[in-house]
Amino acid sequence: MTIADISSFAAGQWITPGTGARAIASAITGAPIARAGNDALDVQAMLDHARTTGGPALRKMTFHDRARLLKALALHLREHRQALYDLSFDTGATQSDHLIDIDGGIGTMLVFASKGRKEMPDAQVFLDGDIEQLSRNGTFLGAHICTPLQGVAVHINAFNFPVWGMLEKLAPTLLAGVPAIVKPATATCYVTEACVRLMLESGLLPPGALQLVSGGLGDMLDHLTCQDAVAFTGSADTGLKLRSNPQILANSVRFTSEADSLNASILGHDATPGTAEFDLFVKEAAREMTTKAGQKCTAIRRIIAPETAIDALISALSSRLAKTVIGDPRDTATRMGALVSEAQKHDVLAKAALIATEAERVTPDAVLPDTGAFVSPMLFHCTTPDTAQHVHTTEAFGPVSTILPYRDTDHAIELANRGGGSLVASVITRDPETARAIALGAGAFHGRLYFNNRVSMAESTGHGSPLPHLTHGGPGRAGGGEEMGGIRGVKHYMQRTSIQGSPDILTAIGEKWVPGAREITSADHPFTRRFGDLVIGETLHTAPREITLADIEHFAHFTGDTFYAHMDEAAAKRNPFFPGQVAHGYLLLSFAAGLFVEPNEGPVLANTGLDSLRFMKPVEAGDSIEVRLTVKKKTKRNDEYGEVRWHVTLSNQSSELVAEYELLTMNAY
Ligand code: NDP
Repeated sequence: MTIADISSFAAGQWITPGTGARAIASAITGAPIARAGNDALDVQAMLDHARTTGGPALRKMTFHDRARLLKALALHLREHRQALYDLSFDTGATQSDHLIDIDGGIGTMLVFASKGRKEMPDAQVFLDGDIEQLSRNGTFLGAHICTPLQGVAVHINAFNFPVWGMLEKLAPTLLAGVPAIVKPATATCYVTEACVRLMLESGLLPPGALQLVSGGLGDMLDHLTCQDAVAFTGSADTGLKLRSNPQILANSVRFTSEADSLNASILGHDATPGTAEFDLFVKEAAREMTTKAGQKCTAIRRIIAPETAIDALISALSSRLAKTVIGDPRDTATRMGALVSEAQKHDVLAKAALIATEAERVTPDAVLPDTGAFVSPMLFHCTTPDTAQHVHTTEAFGPVSTILPYRDTDHAIELANRGGGSLVASVITRDPETARAIALGAGAFHGRLYFNNRVSMAESTGHGSPLPHLTHGGPGRAGGGEEMGGIRGVKHYMQRTSIQGSPDILTAIGEKWVPGAREITSADHPFTRRFGDLVIGETLHTAPREITLADIEHFAHFTGDTFYAHMDEAAAKRNPFFPGQVAHGYLLLSFAAGLFVEPNEGPVLANTGLDSLRFMKPVEAGDSIEVRLTVKKKTKRNDEYGEVRWHVTLSNQSSELVAEYELLTMNAY
């Protein structure tokens, strides 16, 4: 059998294994299949390459450029995913496991690509939150901006998800504009290496944006600075060791950790045997135990159920688990493959033995293949969950779970929280009050709460699936970190800086017009100017228009909005908000459009919406309004058109603001 050389990609070169290379065995046969690692890897050169080549190239791009890059990378991986499936079987994973790891990783990248285009600007600075008014006259303002770290992100990943584990960290990092050095766990690094090769060979990434360490990381962490970040997934012991690195502590290097987690699933008291919820609970618990042979950071380790349902639960869950076909993951009949290695098998069996000192095993040994790191699903029942320790603290990273009985909802919450901080807890209930009590009582101990019942079960994504839109991570034992969570996860790789200054200064930095900043007048009406020609701050002031009583009454009868404040002077006067009969807010908006619109066919293609509308002061018959329309922000959508966000204000004859909003139009490029 040939032994594959798994290389690192360092400073633009593929480096084959050398001194210090470690052997990697197949999870199915136990035979060596690859080797990885080279003690001579120049980690300083890798850091320099990322900092001086990859970072500057990524920072030149806008968030949208990088989002498009992510999309292209993801589509390239999708096209070549069969090669990754083929390799992944040797990790012990089945085809359904590949869908979570490989397709899940690609899907995560696509979500970041989409969110980057929708929720981030086509710019290099991300404005975080609103402008803060710091002065009476608005000449001195505040805001928060995020800019990419100028160092490198070091990603240290666990063995269980060689593709998803990399891509869920890489997508937000690249979107932020930060280069990455990925260090997968050696046991499954051959799959990660193949995935990195695909991304590099696509030619989409700028040089230095992505490097790979297959094998040991050497002393890389000793060379990190305040501009670098580490994201770690693995055991709590390694996490503690790495985050205690003196250089990391001295330089306040950002360190995100996602570690061991004793995740719980609670069966609601209403989900009695015979209900759809009870069946759902059994299905989810069995799936979590057997998917990836239980080697999932989010797998259910503690099954918390009402005392009255325990017997039925043991019976239903063990008969479901007994049907699990265990064997070679390449066989399509197989439902559960092997653990990743013999070492992992020993570890799982040792930890299961520890749990067995406090709980009774209720499932028998299954028939297992003769070779490989296969184990049986092991379901335990602990009758003393309050005094037991190991069931709440020992993570057997395999198909191992313990049933714990609870008396009432408060007791269930107490048991769930005994995990000392976890990635996820699920609750199967139809009772909103139970859900609310658990959210309040257990939320602080869990990174994610997953509620499911007959209403959501057909579309729900599963207890164990972290989603790119939502944060993944948890307090305490789970590492104390947060990953993904949509654009929140991107900000982990950027510095948030508060900025203070005049409106012009804030406009220039944020590439978004701030009220009070310079207005630019053009000889032409802005609606006649193409997307590419419009400039931030370009402003139109309209002529005034008087609002008459006839206008108000005509509008009321025409639209059917004969609300008393527009029709009945005496009734309107009794309302503390109105001086008397007033114009409709929508009449003002309509008249505003009539004032600022340029009617002829031109580059404005469509009005796509209106945001942040406020009516500040009532307008009575006899008042007049005029409009100021300013280009606030431009977002290119494609080569044909882009979105223009206009800041619109309506003022009365005394220059008092009566309404303010943001208008969105699609304009031809
Ligand atoms: P480890 O903590 O041993 O390894 C995690 C990552 O850290 C790997 O990439 C590993 O590389 C790397 N690493 C280890 N030591 C160092 C070091 N000194 N310097 C730099 N990098 C280092 O976890 P495993 O993957 O071996 O899993 C062990 C246990 O961790 C599991 O049994 C399980 O209990 C837990 N685990 C928890 C996960 C979770 O998300 N909750 C996920 C995976 C594991 P290398 O492989 O080369 O040693």
